[in-house]
Amino acid sequence: MSRKTVFVDSDILVVGGGMGGCGATYESRYWGRDLKIVCVEKANIERSGAVAQGLYAINCYMGMHWNENQPEDHVRYARNDLMGLVREDLGYDIARHVDATVHKFEEWGLPIMKDPKTGRYQREGKWQIMIHGESYKPLVAEAARKAASAVYNRIMVTHLLMDSKRPNRVAGAVGFNVRNGDFYVFRAKAVIVAAGGASHIFKPRAVGEGMGRTWYAPWSSASAYALPILAGAKMTQMENRIVLTRFKDGYGPVGAYFLHLKTYTQNAYGQDYEAFWRDSIEKMVGDYVNHHPVPTCLRNHALLEEVKAGRGPIRMVTKEAFKDPHKETIGWENFLGMTIGQAVVWASQNIDPKEINPELTTSEPYVMGSHATCSGAWASGPEDYAPAEYQWGYNRMMTVEGLFGAGDTIGGTAHKFSSGSFTEGRIAAKAAVRYVMERSNDRPEVSETEYARLKKVIYQPLENYRIGRNEIVAGTVSPSYLLPLHGLQRLEKIMDEYVGGISAHYTTNQPLLTRGLELLAMLKEDLAYLGAEDLHQLQRAWELQHRVLASECVTQHTLFRQETRWPGYYYRADHPRLDDQDWHCFTLSRYDRDSGRWEMEKAPVYHIID
Ligand SMILES: Cc1cc2nc3c(=O)[nH]c(=O)nc-3n(C[C@H](O)[C@H](O)[C@H](O)COP(=O)(O)OP(=O)(O)OC[C@H]3O[C@@H](n4cnc5c(N)ncnc54)[C@H](O)[C@@H]3O)c2cc1C
Repeated sequence: MSRKTVFVDSDILVVGGGMGGCGATYESRYWGRDLKIVCVEKANIERSGAVAQGLYAINCYMGMHWNENQPEDHVRYARNDLMGLVREDLGYDIARHVDATVHKFEEWGLPIMKDPKTGRYQREGKWQIMIHGESYKPLVAEAARKAASAVYNRIMVTHLLMDSKRPNRVAGAVGFNVRNGDFYVFRAKAVIVAAGGASHIFKPRAVGEGMGRTWYAPWSSASAYALPILAGAKMTQMENRIVLTRFKDGYGPVGAYFLHLKTYTQNAYGQDYEAFWRDSIEKMVGDYVNHHPVPTCLRNHALLEEVKAGRGPIRMVTKEAFKDPHKETIGWENFLGMTIGQAVVWASQNIDPKEINPELTTSEPYVMGSHATCSGAWASGPEDYAPAEYQWGYNRMMTVEGLFGAGDTIGGTAHKFSSGSFTEGRIAAKAAVRYVMERSNDRPEVSETEYARLKKVIYQPLENYRIGRNEIVAGTVSPSYLLPLHGLQRLEKIMDEYVGGISAHYTTNQPLLTRGLELLAMLKEDLAYLGAEDLHQLQRAWELQHRVLASECVTQHTLFRQETRWPGYYYRADHPRLDDQDWHCFTLSRYDRDSGRWEMEKAPVYHIID
């Protein structure tokens, strides 16, 4: 069947209309009054991305005008939490601008809770402020919609386009409309990728009918990584996957419980277990365990060791806090505003937190760049702050000309969260507009042969299905094609067993990783035979393609870093200790799309803030 091709020309193309993408779209208009700014989103920006369901807290806010925190403090905090390795220039850049972003959210109508005594924003913790955030995403989307020349919803971007004369210069993107199947060619002078993180690359704890239940959004399908990787951009810290301690079975958040309700954890016998593991952790990672707050991964590690020692389950002590009616309300509202499913799980399992201390568990690993983790693209830093080695002209530009990123896309900067991701979108947009304006006569050329080739590749799964659909051997099993769900389950199994997922106790080693790469290579070969029954499955097919490429990158990085830097996130059993001598550095990778080879290198970590 022939598909209509729609051409869209723009100055700035924003891929992904979540927090980073909305920030980028909004700010592009501010600096580029006369530019054509286009945002393309695979869902609908009104309710898309990791914040779609609403939030209960904004996790990154300095409070500088009340002298609560300074940007330097936030850099120290993130550096400590990531065991020493963050891009301090990028983190500082977000921290110094994030308050202004939050003030805009309030101006646009976001209800932020106030402390009745001081009149300041109600703090949940040192960095978090509490919001009535059900409408958070629609508010942010409205600002982006008003700023954009056009928003294209329901278009899944599958590939970036490169300039036909300059192989390292981005020229746009292609994708398809997931509702009517039209093919889209976006030509642009600069592209900002803000396509979220990656869930479902490791096997989740919830399988079978519960499979859609993951902590990070199930629709975060690694496009933020696969798109730049395929364009040849360098990636950093992709081994730094995150594992979350959350309420069991519903992945309900624990932040408000620890910080605001002052609940605490204990083992099955009512004992505090974290202190018990301190000495052994010190032997693995040195002084990091003595820092305050104790890094997130190390707290996970203590929980995992305690469970392995047979003293699980670990419980959150809620019984005391929930006696206070105010705290009880906050406890429930926290879920109702953000993770309704957890309240439903408790109701269905007869858990009243006033009477029973609920269980905690650790999640499967996720790959992202905005939480207590910093996987993503290697980006140029701010002119006034980044060391020379981290600067190649434009803030947040990747190692590909004209290609920028924000939010989960950009590596090295943990703890930006929703507000920091929006802020980073603004920072990237300001630089992208300057990039475009300084090259007013530079319009990259897109080759017709290239997008015609991609058009064929993109719809091939529909063709595979059409031809092979009568050869079903059992149920949905076909000798001619692989369904996206089957491919996803194969990927999750490989990552789980070889790259340090839940069933391997987050543990891997060189032989396992090497075998994992072999199995991933075989899976990649089979992806040419993906079969898609309809447009929805075609989207699943391309999400799988993106997940597989990102997974390969994660595995290469995990193999390259010969140490266990973040116990509690993952373990290299053959290098079980933190090794500051050899590995106090960033890991970088670059994928060659022609040969399929990865080049790995180290980059220095500069400590700019004392
Ligand atoms: C369960 C949960 C709880 C959280 N709690 C908090 C909290 O309490 N406070 C806080 O501040 N932060 C919180 N966060 C973090 C916050 O949501 C993220 O930091 C932020 O959303 C990251 O922004 P982003 O733009 O990188 O990704 P997202 O906001 O996820 O946006 C990515 C967008 O890209 C789109 N997209 C993806 N692939 C494609 C493609 N191929 N083509 C087109 N579009 C595509 C997606 O549909 C999505 O709209 C939480 C996140 C989760 C999942």
